[in-house]
Amino acid sequence: MNPSLSTSPLATKGITMSVLLPLPLLSSYDYWVPFDMAVETGSYVEVPLGARAVTGVVWGMPTGDVGPEKLREISSVIDLPPMPEDLMRFVDWVAKYTLARRGSVLRMTMSVPKAFDPPKMFTAYRVANGIDIKNESLPGGLRLTAARRRVLSVLDGSRLRTAVQIAKAAGTSASVVRGLAAAAILQSITFEERTPIPQPDLELAGKHLTRAQQAVTERLLASLHGGYSVSLIDGVTGSGKTEVYFEAIAATLRAGKQVMVLLPEIALTADWLRRFEARFGVPPVVWHSGLSDAERRRNWRAVVQGDARLLVGARSALMLPFPELGLIVIDEEHDPSFKQEDGVIYNARDMAVARASIGNFSVILASATPSLETMDNVWRGRYRSLSLPARYAGAALPGIAAIDMRTETTHRQCWLSSGLAQMVDETLRNDEQTMLFLNRRGYAPLTVCRACGHQINCPQCTAWLVEHRLHERLECHHCGYFTSPPKTCPSCGVDGQFAACGPGVERLAEEVRNRFPEKKYAVMSSDTVQKPADVQALVRRMENREIDILIGTQIMAKGFHFPSLTLVGVIDADLGLAGGDLRAAERTYQLLHQVAGRAGRAEFPGRVFLQTFQPEHPVMQALVDGDRDKFLAAEAEARRQHQMPPYGRLAAVIVSGRNEIAVDEVANTLGRTAPSDVRISILGPAPAPMAIIRGRHRRRFLVRTPKDRNIQIVLRNWVFAVKPHGGVRVVIDIDPYSFI
Ligand code: ADP
Ligand code: ZN
Repeated sequence: MNPSLSTSPLATKGITMSVLLPLPLLSSYDYWVPFDMAVETGSYVEVPLGARAVTGVVWGMPTGDVGPEKLREISSVIDLPPMPEDLMRFVDWVAKYTLARRGSVLRMTMSVPKAFDPPKMFTAYRVANGIDIKNESLPGGLRLTAARRRVLSVLDGSRLRTAVQIAKAAGTSASVVRGLAAAAILQSITFEERTPIPQPDLELAGKHLTRAQQAVTERLLASLHGGYSVSLIDGVTGSGKTEVYFEAIAATLRAGKQVMVLLPEIALTADWLRRFEARFGVPPVVWHSGLSDAERRRNWRAVVQGDARLLVGARSALMLPFPELGLIVIDEEHDPSFKQEDGVIYNARDMAVARASIGNFSVILASATPSLETMDNVWRGRYRSLSLPARYAGAALPGIAAIDMRTETTHRQCWLSSGLAQMVDETLRNDEQTMLFLNRRGYAPLTVCRACGHQINCPQCTAWLVEHRLHERLECHHCGYFTSPPKTCPSCGVDGQFAACGPGVERLAEEVRNRFPEKKYAVMSSDTVQKPADVQALVRRMENREIDILIGTQIMAKGFHFPSLTLVGVIDADLGLAGGDLRAAERTYQLLHQVAGRAGRAEFPGRVFLQTFQPEHPVMQALVDGDRDKFLAAEAEARRQHQMPPYGRLAAVIVSGRNEIAVDEVANTLGRTAPSDVRISILGPAPAPMAIIRGRHRRRFLVRTPKDRNIQIVLRNWVFAVKPHGGVRVVIDIDPYSFI
């Protein structure tokens, strides 16, 4: 894009260009470019905004929204490569798709404000040319003292070192070094701080692939050179999907392009990084919420400057400004954690595909349980599917059976059926390990007063407080509120009559302790393992057989490989099926399949038992029969009938605020002005299932249009025309994953 020459009388000032700022703004602002300043589209620049200085990106032609006489000047250009044009187009695209403000999307690409500070400079020294350090008299009449001699001998050869390093090695002070430099006996060279990024070793060979893996790899590599394409590696857990995409990564790196791998944050474990390191000789550059500010700055700059060739990260890595991106890999592509639910609401998997399409490169999706959205794209021929149907090294897939809890006997306040308890016992006697899965943190999800039936709720949310005995408190899983367990019922005033209802993993652990007192168990949930190091420690204990029974929530479903784990028991397989979630069945299937995949990963065959009150449910049937494709076909048919995604477009509009009357007013205005088109279905306003979160009242609309309608235009014309008041917020969620 060419900057336009202004024809105003102020043209002597130069030209104007528009600059997009990383602030919640809809559009870019115009600025003058001083005559002596070289900027281009994509340049990072500092501009004045009110009394502030803000770093933004030159977005192109001036908008002309404001007369040239009112415009201010760009203050400076930041010394970084400009944002590539395809990334700018991607920012525009994401804003248009998600209906977020363009500036807010830009901010995601510039998420490290410190990254724009000029790099630290340092000065290094070497002996100047023509200086003979054996000569007793130095130029400039300087005497060769002992300290100076030591400095010169330390600098023997051509190595560059800083004054402090030299002084330390020579046993003197840095001022001696600087004195020699002042006399031109040492030559000083100034460098910019740029921590070297270890580069992947492309000579290293991968594992020797099986024939099936080899065939998939070849097809994958063939797709890498033809511009935009999406390939799905559809392979059972343990089939070597990772080994296969490693080869695609290596090929892309060899072609001189950058690679980004996206993983669910909890899958980004030390084990996984070690596998990476084993394949490429160096650890990858990483991007996740646990980085320090300094690491974020370093890694962001390494991406922009092209030093980071290979980056592995959680969802937010998607927006990093790679200049030479040639491949995005999304492992566990079905994982709901790729959906970001606050700020700019987007699905990183879907946006990654858009980024690749704009940048004209390839995407690889990998999963054992692909999402229906992805499968639909495969069925339509838009994505290529490559299948790995068997586990590596002949490890068998576990047998899965349902335990019908309608006919099983369990003891009061016990959650293990006698059938499952017997299996655990058998497994332990065989000297093998067991995993018990219950996707609920804490001790009990509900506390009631036996005297009056009062249930303890969060004061800020429509939710029960969950008892956590580990922390000795009641917690809200929605807003983080917590309190100590009360002794007296706030409703009837009776003392000590509280009863815990239902199990969480802590309560299950209590039962395990009572039933198998001589066995060692551990609980794995986000309460017991918080840092990657905690996960690592627990994994090691499991591998070293210091744990017989591992009890945990979904965080233990991901990726771990425990060779002696042969039994997986799912305590409440129906847990995810309740509620009005469009994807409840699909997600339950994916999660239980993944948990089941932990069993029997090595030579010992695995067994999986699902405790369920609905053994005839299609999810349980599909798991027991191992017939994923039948389940997907039935699920697809149900969605098609109801015109639900991926066969229709869906969006949620959430109206929220502290003042319930104002919330209802805004929601009702939206209800009155909703488009009346027979092909557009709008449900609402209705109180959200969680009618209050963090003290904010919530009303929801669910909007559905046929696939061929542009739902964004429908929403824009309708929702943006209503101006919320009274602190009410209206949020649009395109392709919603959360229905609370
Ligand atoms: P997936 O990603 O499909 O779950 P992985 O790539 O993690 O499967 O492979 C499962 C296990 O089998 C890993 O420990 C992996 O190193 C090993 N493995 C897979 N393929 C090979 C191979 N061709 N040679 C050696 N080990 C392999
Ligand atoms: Zn709460």
